[in-house]
Formats: sequence, C-alpha cells, structure tokens
Amino acid sequence: MHEVDMTRYLLQTLEDWREQHPVQPHVGTVHLLVGEFTCVEPSQLRLSFVAAVEDTWLAGTRLSIVPVPLVGECLVCGSSYRPDPACGYASPCCGHPLEIIISGRELKIQRIDYIRPCSPVPSNPCS
Ligand SMILES: [Zn+2]
Repeated sequence: MHEVDMTRYLLQTLEDWREQHPVQPHVGTVHLLVGEFTCVEPSQLRLSFVAAVEDTWLAGTRLSIVPVPLVGECLVCGSSYRPDPACGYASPCCGHPLEIIISGRELKIQRIDYIRPCSPVPSNPCS
C-alpha cells in the first residue's frame, strides 16, 4: 500500500530532523506538500500516519496536507496547462502528449510547526 510506504518515508525524515535538535522538539503540525500526480490519497495517508505515530514521540502530531495541482508544459507550443486525464493529459492547445511535469509530483515536508522546549533561563548575574 502506497500510503504506508509514504508514512514510513515521512517518519524517517522526521526522525532525521529530530536528530538535529539537542533537545527533542514538541511537534504540533507537519505540513506536507502532496502532488496531485503522486496517487497518494490524503485521507489514507492521514490514517496511516496517525496509526504509525501512536505511542511514539510524534503521538498527537497533526498532519496538514497541502495539495499541489498537476501542471504540465507543452514542448511544442510552450504553454503551461492543467493536464486532464480525460484527454490523456495532452496539451489542450495542440494535442501534444504530456512530457514535462512542472508540478504535481511533490511529496515533501513544507514546514514543521514545533515548540522548542525551553532551556533553563540563565540566572541574572545582576540580581
Ligand atoms: Zn501544446
């Protein structure tokens, strides 16, 4: 199942990210860019993520899925267009088949909202 693999990849990325922090950050929301052309079903991905992070340091983390539309560029007429599966993804102006995908294949973390646990406040030497 595609979404399970994606979740595994996502957790690994978050794990790597955590290792860059001396103190474990408290993650609120992970914003994910998901291209229309990745065949990832957002609701499935969310379910898979929630199940995978249960009882881990990411338990309770929200997954915000930001859809990215599929946009192609025609090599023949140079136009950017939204490929339509009903038309075989071909260029609407000249019918040339889709060759260049500008966007829609993304599957990446856009940003992570988190709270850095406070380090002990240094005592004021003047007080
Ligand atoms: Zn064209």
